Amino acid sequence: MLKLTHKASGRHFLQIPGPTNVPDRVLRAMDNPTIDHRGPEFQVIGKKVLSDIRKVFQTNGPVVIYGASGTGAWEAALVNTLSAGDKVLMYETGHFATLWKKMSERLGLNPEFLPGDWRQGVDAARIGQRLEEDRQHQIKAVCIVHNETSTGVTADVLAVRRAIDAARHPALLMVDTISSLASIDYRHDEWGVDVTVAGSQKGLMLPPGLSFNALSEKAIAASKSAGLPKSYWAWADILESNKSGFWPYTPATTLLYGLSEACDMLLEEGLPNVFARHTRFAEATRCAVRAWGLEVLCANPAALSSSLTAVLMPEGHDADKFRKIVLDHFDMSLGVGLAKLGGKAFRIGHLGDFNELTLMGTLAGVEMGLALAGVPHRAGGVIAAMDHLTSNLR
Ligand SMILES: *Cc1c(COP(=O)(O)O)cnc(C)c1O
Repeated sequence: MLKLTHKASGRHFLQIPGPTNVPDRVLRAMDNPTIDHRGPEFQVIGKKVLSDIRKVFQTNGPVVIYGASGTGAWEAALVNTLSAGDKVLMYETGHFATLWKKMSERLGLNPEFLPGDWRQGVDAARIGQRLEEDRQHQIKAVCIVHNETSTGVTADVLAVRRAIDAARHPALLMVDTISSLASIDYRHDEWGVDVTVAGSQKGLMLPPGLSFNALSEKAIAASKSAGLPKSYWAWADILESNKSGFWPYTPATTLLYGLSEACDMLLEEGLPNVFARHTRFAEATRCAVRAWGLEVLCANPAALSSSLTAVLMPEGHDADKFRKIVLDHFDMSLGVGLAKLGGKAFRIGHLGDFNELTLMGTLAGVEMGLALAGVPHRAGGVIAAMDHLTSNLR
């Protein structure tokens, strides 16, 4: 067997903001034989997951499920709705927004990137202003990231919807929820989103390998005349097959067993409870960071993420050296600083299959790591987080 570098005993702490820890219930659900993906047994599971997943997106419309990482679902959203040269308005919230913009360039779209400082998030008023100026309606889509995983800064999707409506602009609204779906409240229908992009390996508590597009009627209408070439990603064939619980090609049957179980877990807990749990753990994490005397990267109190916290390293201290010490000594993976945050920040993932003591173990690993790495800080972050949890019981 392939030798893993993890310690022999106890569980590895996978506290990156995705992939996340897969709960035992989901692992067991996937421990099943491969089945005929055109047979009656599969049809039952196909229909179930296609119905359950809508509840997670808070939509009554169709959700397309791909065998792909989240990046594939980004591409699917763009190629199904847009034509070569179309102008799209994107917002520089961090590394993932930047990658989505780069993808749109490669696909022959014409992105306009509203600049951002990676600490404040999306200013819906700027989007509104830009759309007001676009009298010819050349902008065909507004694309934002709900939870920017590189920074731990969220966007107010409803405010963006309202800004588009106030400008009476017909642009589609597309939202990347890859690290927020099933962790932070997200309402595809109520917030008037046209395409929601998501992935399996973060809040949905599954291994990597599935990704999603939730669609509005307006998005489906746009797909009928969109000119970008597409084949594997084309919604039409998939939506047609999905009507009877099947796919036009072989779906990831094993992952769909896991998805069924993950949806059961989320719906049993209740989405409002899932979101409240994530909020509470994020607050406790920030209590710890403040007690250590370190700085949370997100500088906008209204935009703090509930699925991860990015922490700035004090000047002259290397976040990657610190992360290596935590991995070597305590068998815990923390998120790397991405792109311009390389070495300057680390990220604590607190999403998915996560409870009080997982959080305490995670924060204890960070606090011990800070001491071993010689990072200037005050002790007592773990105690501050414990105090927060015990004085905010659920
Ligand atoms: C993880 C992530 C992605 C990339 O998803 P992959 O599954 O790695 O392709 C894109 N956007 C956000 C916000 C993410 O968190």
